[in-house]
Amino acid sequence: MKKVVIIGGGISGLSAGIYALQQDLEVEIYEKNHVLGGECTGWYRDGYLVDNCMHWLTGCRPGEKLRGLWNNIGVLGEDIELYREELFYRGEFDGVKLCFWRDIERSRKEFLEVSPEDEEAINDFFDSVKRAECVVVPSEQSMADMGIIANIKFSMSMAEMGRVLMKHGKETVAQLAEHFKHPAIQKMIRSYYEPHHSAVSLITSYGFFTSGSAAIPEGGSMGLIKRMSERFESLGGKIFLNSPVASSDVQKGNIVSVTLENGDVITADAFLFACDPIVTFNRILDKKYTPKKLKKLYKDRSGYPVSSAFIAAFGIVGTDEISMENGSELFSCEPYTAAGKEYDFVSARLYDYDKTLYPDGKRVIQCTIMQDETDYDHWRELHGDRSAYVEEKKRISEELLLRLTERYPELKGKLVFLSACTPITFKRYCGAFKGSYMSFIPVEGKKSIYLKSSVPGIKNAFLASQWLQPTGGLPLAATSGKFAVQSIVRKRVI
Ligand SMILES: Cc1cc2nc3c(=O)[nH]c(=O)nc-3n(C[C@H](O)[C@H](O)[C@H](O)COP(=O)(O)OP(=O)(O)OC[C@H]3O[C@@H](n4cnc5c(N)ncnc54)[C@H](O)[C@@H]3O)c2cc1C
Repeated sequence: MKKVVIIGGGISGLSAGIYALQQDLEVEIYEKNHVLGGECTGWYRDGYLVDNCMHWLTGCRPGEKLRGLWNNIGVLGEDIELYREELFYRGEFDGVKLCFWRDIERSRKEFLEVSPEDEEAINDFFDSVKRAECVVVPSEQSMADMGIIANIKFSMSMAEMGRVLMKHGKETVAQLAEHFKHPAIQKMIRSYYEPHHSAVSLITSYGFFTSGSAAIPEGGSMGLIKRMSERFESLGGKIFLNSPVASSDVQKGNIVSVTLENGDVITADAFLFACDPIVTFNRILDKKYTPKKLKKLYKDRSGYPVSSAFIAAFGIVGTDEISMENGSELFSCEPYTAAGKEYDFVSARLYDYDKTLYPDGKRVIQCTIMQDETDYDHWRELHGDRSAYVEEKKRISEELLLRLTERYPELKGKLVFLSACTPITFKRYCGAFKGSYMSFIPVEGKKSIYLKSSVPGIKNAFLASQWLQPTGGLPLAATSGKFAVQSIVRKRVI
């Protein structure tokens, strides 16, 4: 049996592992951390679960092709419950309440009541979301491998999206917000993602909710990883935790072996890099093998920015009723600072939908402050002084806790601090480029760039990662694993 070694046990690595085993290959996964999952993870503090990733999973609508992939890798199935939140997110700005309901017409009506003078922009926005419901994540073949005809066919299947792209394809969310006169609507549009994020990402994400594609599978991030690793092991795959890969031995255009940090040398017929490509090409392989398109992405920082977040998690003590509703919300507040910038709103999310994760007495609220690359630089500098870094995390968390209790006085004295992550956390934990847990976002009319799974110059090296396609996320990570295995089989290297 031919052997494939996979470097990285996140979603892309596990997905690749399952698809490779289904091709009758021998598969080993080497993961640097003590648990699988990478960015898709969670942790317990004082009996409370902090779910690091799962806000929604795209591809949960019956009949969707992507759902077939989720079923195949153990993420979804007949017996796995799906939670469908009633809203994408809600906002309350200076007393004005707004909500992006799954029922799009309900939202349209409410927005028109709030701001009749924005009728044209409101109708255009909700019509765009409706059109975006046709968007699907390619799960049969990667965009990078599609020929012209397949590409045209795929684009035609999403023809409705053409008008949205013509109108909003070059806009950021900040520019989309400027179409509206009402300040609360502007804030609602501008504040969920970073202002430089593409308007199309926001419209498409909302479309995943209204179409029924987005849902949360039971068990959240950790449940999803557990099911994937069980599927992988049940097919005969082997997992090695606490096993960071440090270097590789490339001879005559083939990788002969990789070496772990502990000195163990691992040989195989093919090597599949499912870690962040910045780790692959800056640490394990020589930089000279970096694909040209990837070099371009790393270089053009204003055209293809990335983003990260500061996230503070709080446990709710006790079982008393609270007026905060389930799901994600934004609300205006007294200004506070984070990474040297001022914010006048909080983005918070109550986790209590899945009683196996958040039983009564163990509900969790997480507050997120989106961070861009300049913020990452700020955190990196601060991290040089460990105590200043810890102090700043504490200060921001206290500011957020204060604003939560100002908005929900019944939470006073009932919130316990659980943990705080910064972009440095994601850098340390997964080696993430600039601490980003999603991929490049094309802005200013830049084209989407798709990377192939193959590595130029090395015949038996392959890539799987959310970073191979713009914007990233769980579906792109999972499909990249499948595509990498297709590439291994197609190239007949093993
Ligand atoms: C706060 C947050 C919220 C998110 N929300 C959502 C959401 O709601 N929906 C959604 O679809 N996506 C969401 N995402 C994104 C999603 O988590 C990622 O897209 C996905 O998990 C990326 O998977 P990956 O396999 O490409 O990369 P990673 O998860 O980065 O996996 C790479 C793995 O490689 C390992 N590794 C690194 N270096 C080495 C080495 N030298 N040797 C061995 N192993 C190594 C890492 O430890 C890691 O386990 C969110 C992410 C975060 C952090």
